Amino acid sequence: MNNPKSNTSDTIQLNIFVLVVFSTVVLLFINFFFYNFKDKFNLFEFFSDLFLLLTTFYLIYITHKNSTVRSGFYYYTSIGFSFVFFSLLVLTLNNIFVYPKLVVDLSVKSLFLLGYSLLAIGVTKWIHYNESKRKELSLQANTDELTGLLNRRSFTNYIKFEFFNSQRSATLFSLIIIDVDFFKRVNDEHGHLVGDEVLIKLAHILKTGFRRSDKVSRWGGEEFAILLPDTNLENAINVANKLRLKVAEQTFILSTIEINLTISAGVSESLTTDTDVDDIIKRADEALYLAKKSRNSVRSIKS
Ligand code: GH3
Ligand code: MG
Ligand code: MG
Repeated sequence: MNNPKSNTSDTIQLNIFVLVVFSTVVLLFINFFFYNFKDKFNLFEFFSDLFLLLTTFYLIYITHKNSTVRSGFYYYTSIGFSFVFFSLLVLTLNNIFVYPKLVVDLSVKSLFLLGYSLLAIGVTKWIHYNESKRKELSLQANTDELTGLLNRRSFTNYIKFEFFNSQRSATLFSLIIIDVDFFKRVNDEHGHLVGDEVLIKLAHILKTGFRRSDKVSRWGGEEFAILLPDTNLENAINVANKLRLKVAEQTFILSTIEINLTISAGVSESLTTDTDVDDIIKRADEALYLAKKSRNSVRSIKS
């Protein structure tokens, strides 16, 4: 469904296009009526000016046709191209008709100047618009929709980056993988929507509970993963335990519903013997499997 704003904008865009065509016809008519033909005709100049004229007309046409982007780009560029177009029209006609020099100089220079200034504004707006769109899309591609945390794909890239970094400069990092205990019960007892709200609240606890340099992600479903650069296994276990206690002490309140949860975590650290990031992930996964045996616990695998 079209919204009123886009209709208005399309009307403005269409008017500019119609105005250009109409003014061109009027100008041609005036020329044939008022000016004499030149006796010497420079074919090359005429065709090169004509080519530029038609190209500019095409640019006006496509900017109008694609006027769906509301960034001011199309307003400035279409008006800018229109000025350049009329400047080129005078130049082209100057090859055929005998024009007073002043008319040519004044109109060509002033229209060109005006047109190019507007085009510069339009292109600047276009670049800004594209940049903000690019950022928006990249954020969408790297973020988990429900929780706003990093998604697994972008998180894995961070682990890869840390892994190669640690191999090069002998630094280390740790990985924590968290799984919510008996989460199915939350869904079964209160419904999937409440389950979603709990995941959002849990994600908030994770987001605010770590250093800025740590990367927190939704690993999948009710599982989360945290990457801790420059952190050894012992410190990572402490962090995981603090988090486990924090969650266990918290009551998740959703309107009238009160939910108590626990989490289990598997921790691993990077080793010099690791050949692939999967080695570290695998150890954290295995540690999580051990933690799941007792639940509400943290386990680690050292090697
Ligand atoms: P445990 O891990 O302690 O073994 O028990 P669990 O009940 O958490 O076990 P399991 O990993 O098998 O189940 C995870 C549940 O998490 C199943 C699924 O319905 C729920 N879940 C996964 N993703 C979402 C989600 O995005 N929203 C909601 N509401 N539930 C989800
Ligand atoms: Mg699970
Ligand atoms: Mg679970």
